[in-house]
Amino acid sequence: MNIYDFTPETLREYLGDVPAFRAEQIYKWLYTGAGPDEMTNVPKELRERLKTELYTLLPKIDTRLESKIDGTRKYLFRMEDGAGIESVVMPYSYGSSICVSSQAGCRMGCAFCASTIDGLDRNLTAGEMMGQVLAARKDSGQNISHIVIMGSGEPLDNYENVLTFIRNAVNPKGLGISARHITLSTCGLIMGMRRLAEEGLPINLAISLHAPNDEVRRKLMPIAKSVSIETLLSEAEQYFEKTHRRITLEYALIRGVNDSEDCARELAARCTGKMGFHVNLIPVNSIEERDFRRSSREVVETFQSTLTKAGVQATVRRKMGADIDAACGQLRRAKKGKTI
Ligand code: SAH
Repeated sequence: MNIYDFTPETLREYLGDVPAFRAEQIYKWLYTGAGPDEMTNVPKELRERLKTELYTLLPKIDTRLESKIDGTRKYLFRMEDGAGIESVVMPYSYGSSICVSSQAGCRMGCAFCASTIDGLDRNLTAGEMMGQVLAARKDSGQNISHIVIMGSGEPLDNYENVLTFIRNAVNPKGLGISARHITLSTCGLIMGMRRLAEEGLPINLAISLHAPNDEVRRKLMPIAKSVSIETLLSEAEQYFEKTHRRITLEYALIRGVNDSEDCARELAARCTGKMGFHVNLIPVNSIEERDFRRSSREVVETFQSTLTKAGVQATVRRKMGADIDAACGQLRRAKKGKTI
């Protein structure tokens, strides 16, 4: 078991007869990035026990790419069993944001996404998700203030582990990041969205919509065959009512597929209901294996202004790390099966 899979409660339970304050000391040390050898106020025998019984190392960096333009760093970590996972650290004026992966591979099958091409490899544990944050923080020297669970994988398809990770991230004795600085992105697993709304965690929700109607969405995302946009957006409204967190709809603009003015108008009509969604437009990242092309700059601008004129807040995702560009999941695929 990975030591970062524990919550304070499960760690105390696991340690058994060890006094509760020791468990708390260890838990606090963990989030400074310290390994057992550095936990100076913890007795030696206990530190040895942690080392022999648990996996206490941070993920190994297989590849690191750093943008010369804006300092964005992209990591490929190699897990113990050889699984590769990607994370990206983006420095902003307010601090740094890290994009973490929740699964090695993915089984959602979205047509434009590289992470899903070979299907799901396996779920990541809570510890492996935390490991991405701590290893990237240590390597980059950045103060990580925001987390987006938007890397490879569908987080709501790995619910328990993702929730444990988030609970450790928001715990003041853990990473201590405000829930308001955490965003979870989903293609729309309804049961997971309902559960999440009940957790009492005010995290932001991003929904990968990518189409203004079910017909277009079904061509891009298999999930659209079982969940209609109407159902999805009404669930999103429920989430908003319970958490009061703003909901973002993600919309990857794909040339000739979902980027017409009609599409923009149809999308706008969906967004101006009782709560109002924010739309984040992302010119699609072309991947080698598929023939999707990004919309031209003019088309992106027209799409955005059609939304804005209809009263919908729409932003175009700022492109970070243009010189280390590799669409989500591409680095992992390129390096698959290769050792360090
Ligand atoms: N499974 C979750 C989170 C991971 S994907 C989800 O679907 O939201 C994170 C975001 O990147 C999603 O909005 C996804 O649709 C988008 N994405 C995947 N491949 C992309 C590509 N080639 N270009 C642009 N966005 C992409």
